[in-house]
Amino acid sequence: MLKSIAYLKAKNSGGWWLIQLTERQKEIVNIVKNQGPITGEAIAQQLNLTRAALRADLTILVMSGLLDAKPRVGYYYAGKTPQSEIAETIKKMKVQDIKSVPIVIGEDVSVYDTIVTLFIEDVGTIFVVGEKGILKGVVSRKDLIKVTMGKSDIYKMPVKMIMTRMPNIVTTSLEESVVDAARKITEHQVDSLPVIRSVNDEGPNKGQPEVVGRITKTNITKLFLELGEGN
Ligand code: ADP
Repeated sequence: MLKSIAYLKAKNSGGWWLIQLTERQKEIVNIVKNQGPITGEAIAQQLNLTRAALRADLTILVMSGLLDAKPRVGYYYAGKTPQSEIAETIKKMKVQDIKSVPIVIGEDVSVYDTIVTLFIEDVGTIFVVGEKGILKGVVSRKDLIKVTMGKSDIYKMPVKMIMTRMPNIVTTSLEESVVDAARKITEHQVDSLPVIRSVNDEGPNKGQPEVVGRITKTNITKLFLELGEGN
């Protein structure tokens, strides 16, 4: 069912218009949706009208982007609503378009120094890496709070003792869509994902996950804001 009011993109203006479809226009759209491609003649027949009487309605519906027409084929449903266009735009966005610089430390860095890094870099999660930036673990605010509440010597204890380790880390890649990355963040209830690339060079690290970025809830929120502001 079509809503009586539709937001439609007028092709020539580049802007969004709020238009109220008439009952007849709604009927036309339904016919084309169900039977398209269909000629103007055939639509007119079903509505007991002449082709000429329909011309203005068809023009409006094509201009609005709801219908499209091909010579010798007829009218077909194009149905580009703002929602579907926004969804298409978002689905095309890749992690590499919005990722941030990863903040990384070595496995033997103390819990104390990790906390200092968290403050200096102003992040909520730090990635722990081995040689050549290979991902080994993730340490979050709560991991650090938990250990400081116990009796551990945070000046001596290495971060590797408290981090979440591979292979339990949820990761993303440069080519993954932002939508899939956002789904992982939500489903796994984490604040961030390391962006990784599989090492290609021959050698001991071949196939290992190298950290090349990070995606956080903040990246996703910023993107949401940009889209909402129409940028
Ligand atoms: P916070 O500690 O601020 O709640 P998170 O919700 O991101 O931050 O972290 C919750 C737990 O999940 C922590 O133990 C952390 O080590 C772990 N964690 C964080 N990010 C990931 C990730 N991408 N994959 C797997 N575990 C993660």
